[in-house]
Order: sequence, then C-alpha cells, then structure tokens
Amino acid sequence: MASLLQRVTDRLDRQERLTKEDALELFAAQDLIGLGRLANQVKQLRWGDRAHFVINRQINPTNICVLSCRFCDFATKRGRPNAYEMTIEEILGRLNPELREVHIVQGLHPEWRWDYYLQMIRAIKTTFPQIQIKAWTAVEIDYFSKKFRLSVEEVLTQMKEAGLSALPGGGAEVFSERVRKALFPFKIGAPRWLEIHRIAHRLGIPTNATLLYGHIETHEERVDHFFKLRELQDETDGFMSFIPLAYQVGKTRVVERQASAIEDLKTVAISRLILDNIPHIKAYWVTMGEEIASIALNFGADDLDGTIGEERIMHAADAETPIRQTRERLLSLIRSSGCVPVERDAIYQTSTNGHGHH
Ligand code: SF4
Repeated sequence: MASLLQRVTDRLDRQERLTKEDALELFAAQDLIGLGRLANQVKQLRWGDRAHFVINRQINPTNICVLSCRFCDFATKRGRPNAYEMTIEEILGRLNPELREVHIVQGLHPEWRWDYYLQMIRAIKTTFPQIQIKAWTAVEIDYFSKKFRLSVEEVLTQMKEAGLSALPGGGAEVFSERVRKALFPFKIGAPRWLEIHRIAHRLGIPTNATLLYGHIETHEERVDHFFKLRELQDETDGFMSFIPLAYQVGKTRVVERQASAIEDLKTVAISRLILDNIPHIKAYWVTMGEEIASIALNFGADDLDGTIGEERIMHAADAETPIRQTRERLLSLIRSSGCVPVERDAIYQTSTNGHGHH
C-alpha cells in the first residue's frame, strides 16, 4: 500500500499523468487517509486553502417527462396528482437579486414549445441581469434538437443569445453501455453526451460534468468515465468542474443502501488525481451531507456548490433571510474544514479574480 501511494506521488512529482491502472489500484487501496492527503496536496497546489461556494437556486420548471429512467424519483406523467408545470411568472417569483446563479433542469416535457424555453431564459436575464443562468443537461439539449428539428449548434446558439451562461453536468450518469441498458436505455449514451459538451465548448459555453455512482456501476466503469472526461478536456478545455454524485436510494431502490462515506471520499480524492485538467472538484454537500463534504474539502475538493437544496419554497417577501442564513452556514462549514471561503458565480468568477475559467 505504501508503495502504491509512493509510486503515485513519484509519478505526480515527475509531472506524469496517472493511468487507468493507477486509478483502479487507488480504488482498491486501504489507506484512505494517505489517499486523501495526496489529493489534498494536489488541490493545495492549485487552490491553496480556498474553497468555493455560490449563492444559487435550483429551479425545475416541470416534472413531466417522456422518459422513465430507472433511478429517477423526480419524473412523472401528465395527469398524475404530483405533476406540475411552472409559468414564467412562477419561475421569476422564486428568484431574487441576491442570487448569483440559477440552475435549471427539468423533465423532457412532451408539449412545451421551443419558444417557451427561450422566453424563460430571456425573462430571467432581463429581470435579474446579475444572475447567471446554468441550464439544460445534454439530455435536454439532445431532446430539444430532435423535437424542434434544430441542430445542437442552433439550440445552443439561440440559448446563448437568450442569456444562457453555462450547461450543468448531469445526464452523463456513468459512461457505460452496460449500465445505460440496465437503468436508462432510452436516454442518450456517452458518445452523444460528449459530442454535445464538445459543441458547447466550441461555442464558448463552459460546462460541468457529473458522475452518478453508488448503484450498479463497477470501479472500472467509474475509472473509464474519468478518462473519457479527461480526454475531452484535453481537447476543449471547456469543463469547469467535476461533480461526483452519490445515487440516492429514495423510492427507486436500484440498490439497498447509499454509497458509504469511504466510497464518497475515495471518489472525490481519485477524481482530483485523475482529472488533472479540470480545475474544480465539487463536494456536493446536498447529497453528501455536511459532515462528509467538510472532510471532502480536505480530500481534494475545492467547491461545495451552494444554497441549492437548502431553500424551501417561500414567499418572495421573506426569501432573503434564509439565503443569508444559508450563506452563514456554508461559511462556517468551510471555515470549520480549515479552508477559506471564496464566493463565486456560475462560471467561477470571484471578486478576487474578476474573471472566470473562460
Ligand atoms: S430523462 Fe431525466 S427527468 Fe426524465 S425520467 Fe430520465 S432522469 Fe428522470
């Protein structure tokens, strides 16, 4: 074990990239603390003690979806009691000027028109010019392209003109045909996901990338996922952050229990080591929990995301207090991890650097 971490350290010292074999051995390794320390050293070289966060809000304009992915607790069909569709006014009513980012993802709605999506983005941009809009996963972009008979370039260009700043990283789940066939056979696969992100990067739209882990995927499949992302990033340099997301057992129960804390921390640390060309590794505290997220900030992560899951639907009048409270909570979480909080926006502009990744 000591020899594995020593070998990996030597390799990093020589500025060599880690291989798939290294990554697999790291997943199998027992010395979790040693792994975390190594990933933290790499994070420190890039970001020092900084840990990023954003005051953001997630909006899911509808939960009506034409698909029924096996792990999805969110989607429903029209006419079911829990189905909902938001108007643009309702969406605007959930935003306020304190936010720096809005994250929009939703079901693949069978009837909404292309114009509605553009109007939604334009209305947010006009009403809240200071909020950056990060919207639509590659799955939604692919759906828009097919449904509205527009090329992916056209979809993204019109969205950008309407006010879109970035694409979120979801929809990739895990780049494995085996897993895709078992859990979400009608959803796009790895080649299409990667193609859409490649096009977005070419058009100057930065994106994120996620990995959904802790279900039926193997370590090999996780590692393969890292390498597909690293290869595309070598080509485009358009990814801002990588976000490992633990599958939530919920009602879909693809597996009996959520990934362990050890798996969470290993996945964060190994992603920092392998994804040497993606600047930010996110410890998404909403799914990870505050405890693990604060440890993850010492295991290679430099970003906590934001206020996203904390907010309740509330009257616009008292919406500011919870945001302030949540900000305080994130600040104390970061400080208690020994890090220095740095507030950012959707494209990682901070008041100290004045510019983002792009
Ligand atoms: S496409 Fe998205 S919203 Fe629809 S069922 Fe699949 S995961 Fe759920």
